[in-house]
Amino acid sequence: MRISVITNFAYGATVVLTALSGTAFILSANSAERERQAVEQHRVLDDLGDELALGAEERSDEVRLYVVSGEERHLRAFQGREGEERRLEAAISGIRDQDLPAAEAEAIVDMERYADALDSLEETAIAAYQRGDRDNASRTLFGSEHERLQASLLETVTRFRALATTRAGDLLQEARERADAWSLVARVMLGLTAFLFLAVLYFVLRRRVAIPLIQMTGIVSRLARQDYAVEVPLDRRQDEIGEMTEAIHIFRQNGLERDRLDAERRRDQMIKDLILQMMHRLQACQTQLELAEVVSLFAPQIFPQLAGQLFVMNESRTALSSFGSWLQPHHAETSFPASACWAIRRGRPHVSDPAQNDISCQHLQGLDVTGFCVPLTAQGDMIGLLYFEERDDADGTLAEASRLYLELIAENIGLAVANLQLRDRLTHLAVRDALTGLLNRRSLDDALARQSRSTDGEALACLMIDIDHFKRFNDEFGHDAGDEVMRYVAQIITDTVGDRGKAYRFGGEEFAVLAPGLDEEAAVALAEKIRSAVMEAPLAYRGRILGSITASLGVAAKARSYSGPALLILADKALLEAKARGRNLSVSALELDGGVTQGEVRTNASIGSEGDRAAAGDGRR
Ligand code: GH3
Ligand code: MG
Ligand code: MG
Repeated sequence: MRISVITNFAYGATVVLTALSGTAFILSANSAERERQAVEQHRVLDDLGDELALGAEERSDEVRLYVVSGEERHLRAFQGREGEERRLEAAISGIRDQDLPAAEAEAIVDMERYADALDSLEETAIAAYQRGDRDNASRTLFGSEHERLQASLLETVTRFRALATTRAGDLLQEARERADAWSLVARVMLGLTAFLFLAVLYFVLRRRVAIPLIQMTGIVSRLARQDYAVEVPLDRRQDEIGEMTEAIHIFRQNGLERDRLDAERRRDQMIKDLILQMMHRLQACQTQLELAEVVSLFAPQIFPQLAGQLFVMNESRTALSSFGSWLQPHHAETSFPASACWAIRRGRPHVSDPAQNDISCQHLQGLDVTGFCVPLTAQGDMIGLLYFEERDDADGTLAEASRLYLELIAENIGLAVANLQLRDRLTHLAVRDALTGLLNRRSLDDALARQSRSTDGEALACLMIDIDHFKRFNDEFGHDAGDEVMRYVAQIITDTVGDRGKAYRFGGEEFAVLAPGLDEEAAVALAEKIRSAVMEAPLAYRGRILGSITASLGVAAKARSYSGPALLILADKALLEAKARGRNLSVSALELDGGVTQGEVRTNASIGSEGDRAAAGDGRR
């Protein structure tokens, strides 16, 4: 019940009880008034009877004295008393007319009758005395009749007074009892009012208001300090305190919701910041390994509950292989055919979730495995895959908001991978020769320049290789066959050198080899190996036997006084010597006549010039 209803009821009851109590007090007062009236009436009647009896006695005395002494003053006194008696008789008549009990009215009638009889007897005696019949007058006044009348009057007065006293006593008793009864009622009502007031005060103020308010004060203080962990007890009472509790409960719910949204917003902002940081670093990556490292570092920070793996598509776009993972995913294979992934097939993110009755990717290991695959695309090309799975301690499925971020991350990783691949292709084009796949002349120049700057004094051998009479070969079998032979020779050189050095296409049908750590002798041995391999290689093009070719080689090993480019020039000089000696030969720079000094060698820039051809004398170049 609402507090206002309770207080209204209590107020109404208090008003009614107070009114009843007031009425009882008034009734009690009325009874007291009646009590007072009864006492007053008794006093009047008592006085009246007393005066009547006394007056009759005094008049008898006066008339008797008049008759005995003959003095006129007693007669006048008697007559004076008579006036008084008339007044008393009138008063008694008045009382008789009042609503008196029958016994009292009868006593009054008797008193009047006896008084009148006594009066007429005494008048008769006065008349006899005044006629001179003194004896008759004395007999009348002192006779038995006068005595009887006087005694009867006194007895009647006494009876009347006794009746009046008894009746007054009864009235008094009745009025007193009534007054006491109403007074008791009034006090009880007053007590009830006080009890009701105190009970309402206790129940409403203490139990319904004060105690819940004291509890609420602590809760509200904690809520004001934004401590929403405080429990608000659910109060089902349909009153103002219940409504207040409900409002505080709603306030707390709102606070919790606001906290949750704040935390979500902060988390969202943190994710965005981390994604931004990751993007910046992705753009600066120079290799795919670096890229994988960046992703493996940031992805667990952005989504601590998701393990993941980064896959890159092979050149032929048929298979994917992992090149980075984080938080130890254990459901996905490390390499698998492109067709095993529904995301790659469909070209859009795919959730493998048996619980959702959707098809699962075949590259996931195990039953009932949930995974999220996002294809990495760049300019419409499928270049890889970003794979996520929830960790064992994760508490739910991938949230919709997270998926958007995962797709955003995938988009950026895809672009970064594509950029790296493009850069790799451009670098490849810049440093490699298109026909043979060997490092090109620029790479050779760079390597030589690096060697020149190097101060470690490590040995370095340089081989210059020139195919003999290649012009003729071209002329005989055509340029396409010549190209094929060039590729073949390049492959022979690469295979023969192996990891001892690097092979370069110097230009035209000329190749160079830089072999660090090889001295002159080892370099000559290597040159001989190459020459033999070229000479022994069976050549065929489109089913046509081309015979065999030979190559001439010039060898120079790095002396302390030579720079890298100078070494190349020495090797080239040795090559010219080999040509001059008849081709299909390996000549070391040490074999050159008179040795070689720095001043004798050609400059790097002049190698291959017309002047050199003339110097070779036999049309080598
Ligand atoms: P020598 O034994 O003196 O070196 O004689 P050579 O004919 O090999 O030398 P020359 O300098 O006269 O001719 C080089 C020839 O190599 C000219 C050119 O037709 C050929 N050649 C150069 N580059 C290529 C190429 O990329 N493909 C083909 N098919 N031939 C090339
Ligand atoms: Mg040649
Ligand atoms: Mg040549």
